[in-house]
Amino acid sequence: MAGVVVVFDFDKTILDCDSDNWVVDELGISELFTQFLPTLPWNSLMDRMMMELHSRGKTIKDIAECLKHAPLNPRIISAIKSAHASGCDLRILSDANAFFIDTILKHHGLIECFTEINTNPSFIDEEGWLRILPYHDFSSHSHGCSSCPPNLCKGLVMERIRASLPAEGKKNIIYLGDGTADFCAGLKLEEGDFLMPRKNYPIWEITCTNRSLIKAKVHEWNDGEDLETILLDLINPFFIEEKYNVRSSTTDRMVLAVECKFLTSSIPAHEASSNSTLPVP
Ligand SMILES: [Mg+2]
Ligand SMILES: [Zn+2]
Repeated sequence: MAGVVVVFDFDKTILDCDSDNWVVDELGISELFTQFLPTLPWNSLMDRMMMELHSRGKTIKDIAECLKHAPLNPRIISAIKSAHASGCDLRILSDANAFFIDTILKHHGLIECFTEINTNPSFIDEEGWLRILPYHDFSSHSHGCSSCPPNLCKGLVMERIRASLPAEGKKNIIYLGDGTADFCAGLKLEEGDFLMPRKNYPIWEITCTNRSLIKAKVHEWNDGEDLETILLDLINPFFIEEKYNVRSSTTDRMVLAVECKFLTSSIPAHEASSNSTLPVP
């Protein structure tokens, strides 16, 4: 189902906490982090904190072990796996960094579900220090967006994602996030797309006060259970449409999904099992 592209923020969306804060707190450098925070952009500060960990004898393995324990709701794991199994094109757009995201997704068996991870690049230098670089090189020029941090404008990346999609056939984008920069990405959504802001998080407040700026349909979510239910409800009609070659408008899709669910639930088990399965919300 290449017609649906699902773009996830990572921290406080897929992961229940912020991976940067998690590592800083768990490895005992919170005080230093707070002390440096007013003096450096967040992304540069994280690079500096990795140097600090290195100088305190913490290895890459220690950081990876710490990341593996970061809280991730099992319903979000199943939501990602179901969306992937339905054929959706899943991507990540995050202000964390490549090493943190790769480590966590691999640990939970999710890395293969994603076609693209857009985030701050990272590498391990010859001394074993994890280096974290900005997504946009802001030392030479600014990306010009005042809503996003200097190292990454999510709106710009969303524009690039849309431009990279194949020209034939309308692609619908579903975007999920919690932060201010996620709202910047949401502004790039079009009619037929869906924005899933996390309720009572910064994106939610901004979406409520600037609703007219968002062209996409808005479906808020609270927790992993909500995320799974809403995301799969949004995806299901596209799946049915493609599988049974039914054309429908966006507004008809919810009705179609309900009818198809009713249809499958009324089929006796032995017949249903010989049918190809519908994604289970
Ligand atoms: Mg986030
Ligand atoms: Zn921006």
